[in-house]
Amino acid sequence: MNIVLATLNAKYIHTSLALRCLKAFAEKDFPNIEIAEYTIKDPAMNIVSDLFARRPAVVGFSCYIWNIEETIVVIDMLRKIMPEVKIVLGGPEVSYDTEFWMERIPQVDFIVVGEGEETFHHLLLELRSTRKYHLVFGLAYRKEREGKSEILVNPGRPKLDLASLPSPYRFAEDIPTLGNRVVYFETSRGCPFSCQFCLSSIEVGVRYFDIERTKADIIYLIDSGAKLIKFVDRTFNIKRDYALEMFRFLIENHRGCVFQFEITADIMRPEVLDYLAEHAPPGVFRFEIGVQSTNDITNEAVKRRQNFTKLTRTVTKVKESGKIDQHLDLIAGLPHEDYDTFRKTFNDVFALRPEELQLGFLKMLRGTGMRIDAEKHGYVYMDRAPYEILGNDLLPFADIVRIKRVEDVLEKYWNAHRMDHTLLYLVERVFPSPFDFFQSFGDYWEERGWQRIGHQLEDLFSRLWSFLNDRGAEASEGRLDPDVTLGFMKLDYFLQHKYKPRKIWWDFAMDKAEWSGWMKRLSERPQDVSGGFASLGFADKELHKHAVIDRVPFDLERYWSAGEIDKTAESIVVMIYQGENSAGKPYALRIGRNETPLQAQSVNE
Ligand code: SF4
Repeated sequence: MNIVLATLNAKYIHTSLALRCLKAFAEKDFPNIEIAEYTIKDPAMNIVSDLFARRPAVVGFSCYIWNIEETIVVIDMLRKIMPEVKIVLGGPEVSYDTEFWMERIPQVDFIVVGEGEETFHHLLLELRSTRKYHLVFGLAYRKEREGKSEILVNPGRPKLDLASLPSPYRFAEDIPTLGNRVVYFETSRGCPFSCQFCLSSIEVGVRYFDIERTKADIIYLIDSGAKLIKFVDRTFNIKRDYALEMFRFLIENHRGCVFQFEITADIMRPEVLDYLAEHAPPGVFRFEIGVQSTNDITNEAVKRRQNFTKLTRTVTKVKESGKIDQHLDLIAGLPHEDYDTFRKTFNDVFALRPEELQLGFLKMLRGTGMRIDAEKHGYVYMDRAPYEILGNDLLPFADIVRIKRVEDVLEKYWNAHRMDHTLLYLVERVFPSPFDFFQSFGDYWEERGWQRIGHQLEDLFSRLWSFLNDRGAEASEGRLDPDVTLGFMKLDYFLQHKYKPRKIWWDFAMDKAEWSGWMKRLSERPQDVSGGFASLGFADKELHKHAVIDRVPFDLERYWSAGEIDKTAESIVVMIYQGENSAGKPYALRIGRNETPLQAQSVNE
């Protein structure tokens, strides 16, 4: 009996832990189960051709909100060309409203509800033998009765004892691609919290895998070349001692592998934070933290216990350590959250300056309390996955569309870290608030139709510049200083390159004589810049090879050291590029206002 476990991942680099868990558990009786991973971008024809070539008797599909609709297209075609194949669905998307799915997709023979390992294995045993499907806990199936097909859903299966599950991380066929894909890893199942929009709130209790086995699997993966391991535990830091032990273990054994965790920031214990601040190697850990809303009444309505003061303390401490990137999540469209309170939520969270801020929109997931209570708040939402909301009593569709424009430029600019100096300047000193900056820029972006066309790095800069020139003065209530902004934008543009940029997007105002004069000054008196710059020891020729310069209308060194924008002096920004293996490094030569390189005196003398 050929068995294929398939799924459509969102991206090629993702891997499906679910398929590997099912295979590992069933392998003792079905040693030749094949795993077939595709992406939602693959043409259905290619997927079906590949599945067909494998000649399966059974195909299982792992279903999520991101792939269900694409999976249905595949199933529809597969049934037409393989009328005998047994099609099994499983995964969170079909584990709720199971009868609905059996009715909507008549080509499907079985649905495995909930945790799948034992149920899928038992189903395979029945398929191979007596076909007594009524004995399989957690299974939905069809039965022919009096010429009619009936849908039957068996009682659920008790939660699995995690100690009984074999490791899903040690398949030899995974090793060649371990280094260039994300390895998903679970050390626990379940979440103790009850946020009403989240599927994890439905299951009660948290179960852990044996910690020694977990450690051995992680070592095996690192030894085999894994570079990025993403823990799928709903809250990695529920138990202080467990989290501390695992963080310590990972710090001692990472060997360059990067680990991502979902943590609940307000319950992070100070001693764990202190340990991380002291010992975590930079860049090895990344935290994902759901904030969702800072509006108390909203959090109460969705039964989300969250102490924003404590959350702030954690995020700030992690940020100050400078060692761990943080990705914070927000959800627009929660109950009692209108446009203005969401603006406040956004600004509260942006104030923490997370490396990434992801702005999502509420999804009415099947099985969640939020979906059950949808009418109470007047929600309208998409009938099909991902079930995103289209409005509610407080947040009409027009506001959702406005907030989507914020999300668009937030992703392109802040989350992509294209121009951190410029953005910090604009959100901290120019616009009334970060949200207002992203909103007015997002509106402008859409008016120009830029969402329909692609963009190069230069476009991102010139489009922001165009917005600031057209709307900046008004939207910033007169606080915009175009010269200072352009100075920051030049610096950020230089910082985005590994090599000397071939082109610039602004008008280069220095003439040849001035440019040559500054270069001469830099090579003859490098100590005027800094000791670090002088220690590079660049002679004239090397400087020409490695440096780009331009004028910035304020004292850049003072900005870097004290955060002040002092326009009583100016700077020559000197960006040094030394090749692929070293990031470009900026230096600044402090000069007088309107000083030219030919003037004998400089403010440094
Ligand atoms: S949102 Fe996070 S904390 Fe809340 S129930 Fe889901 S997984 Fe648990």
